[in-house]
Amino acid sequence: MPHSSAKEDTDAQTSIPHWYDPSSTGVTITDGDGSRVVDDEGTEYLDFVSQLYCVNAGHGNRAIVNAMIEQLERVQYVSSAKRTPARAELSDDLVAVAPDSLSNVMFSVSGSEANELAVTIARDYADAPKVLSRWRSYHGSTYGAGSMTGDPATRGPLEAHASTTGAVKFLPPMTYGSPFDAETPEELAAAAADHLEFVIRNEGPETIAAILTEPIAGTSGAYTAPPGYFERVRDLCDEYEILLIVDEVITGFGRCGDWFGIQTEGVEPDLLTFAKGVTSAYAPLAGVMMRPEIAERVRSGGFDIGQTFGGHPVSCAAGVAALAEYDDGLIENVRATEGAFADRLSALEREHDVVADVRGRGFLHAVEFADPTTGEPFHDPRVDEGHNPVKDVIGEASNRGVLVGGGRPTTQVILAPPLCTTADEIDTAVETLEAAIEAVF
Ligand code: PMP
Repeated sequence: MPHSSAKEDTDAQTSIPHWYDPSSTGVTITDGDGSRVVDDEGTEYLDFVSQLYCVNAGHGNRAIVNAMIEQLERVQYVSSAKRTPARAELSDDLVAVAPDSLSNVMFSVSGSEANELAVTIARDYADAPKVLSRWRSYHGSTYGAGSMTGDPATRGPLEAHASTTGAVKFLPPMTYGSPFDAETPEELAAAAADHLEFVIRNEGPETIAAILTEPIAGTSGAYTAPPGYFERVRDLCDEYEILLIVDEVITGFGRCGDWFGIQTEGVEPDLLTFAKGVTSAYAPLAGVMMRPEIAERVRSGGFDIGQTFGGHPVSCAAGVAALAEYDDGLIENVRATEGAFADRLSALEREHDVVADVRGRGFLHAVEFADPTTGEPFHDPRVDEGHNPVKDVIGEASNRGVLVGGGRPTTQVILAPPLCTTADEIDTAVETLEAAIEAVF
């Protein structure tokens, strides 16, 4: 493609990265293989954030690439208003591994759009306007999904020039930095569920279509729910006739040791949204799974909305192949290795004063930092002024060859490697993180 001389070599200026951070030097990634990626200078990194928590099957997976090529060679695109075998096959495979309550799939493109679609379906089905979601949550960056997100830095740009509608927040059951005065996990579960009931009663149950929640808070900090919490949430949904939508955009597809995070809680949702790992990020794809009676409603009334690239056939072909990979040993690898991973991270908490908490499940963990003299978190420069040493730890880890996630807020480091990552690679990554912590503090 011809360039005018004034416009040569301007990629750094013309392409604006998402979650743009002017202070970040960033790396330019050119290649990938398994749990590793390589930058434009040939430096190799362990990808302990699966890029954006999405390359679950690892980089360069031949089976997924071949499935996509086969689909491209047959037909590259079929209208999302029509049927095609790749879409049908992936729907069947998804329903087979999903919670028993879910029988139908409607595809979308991104996680944000899947959440908006789920909410549209839920509002129509329940004939009510509001959706409750948690503070310290992330559901996407588009107008609707962003308004349901608890993270203030995401909501800020959306709410600056527009008031949001129907999105009501409640407090999450955080096991660290909890807003509740609870001594034990059981007390925390009870206090957080009582609070949710208070919000429901005061908002008016008849005005609430759904509760939208991640089973394990993802980028907000890998918070697992205390035992019994989701059972209470399910009971509240049943008692007040509210739909339960679980956002499995990060927690789905083996990331937390089961196909879906909510399965570990033993609770059946009414709707479930997915994205990221469904294709292992080989192509964009997302969707909503739902109960038969909700699917029936969508079908019976007609549902005159959609997206051109919802359920793109090449993405669906990638999804079929990715699910086969998860089934063929990758989820098993998470189960076999997660204990050693968690132990390795707990040692960081014991050995470093600045590490205030470690938490997570499967291949999704957070390491939380706090000032040991005050017990207070370090500044999150996205929210308040001030230098944040946690960002320096992330930079140091990258300089030493390990990519980790920043989390929202950046008071923590998130580790979420591809599911093919070995115990040795986990050892190397945690050792490197430890060296980065020692270098910064
Ligand atoms: N939900 C959760 C839990 C997420 O983590 C994300 C993305 N990080 C989204 C929704 C939004 O997905 P997308 O970026 O594909 O729109």
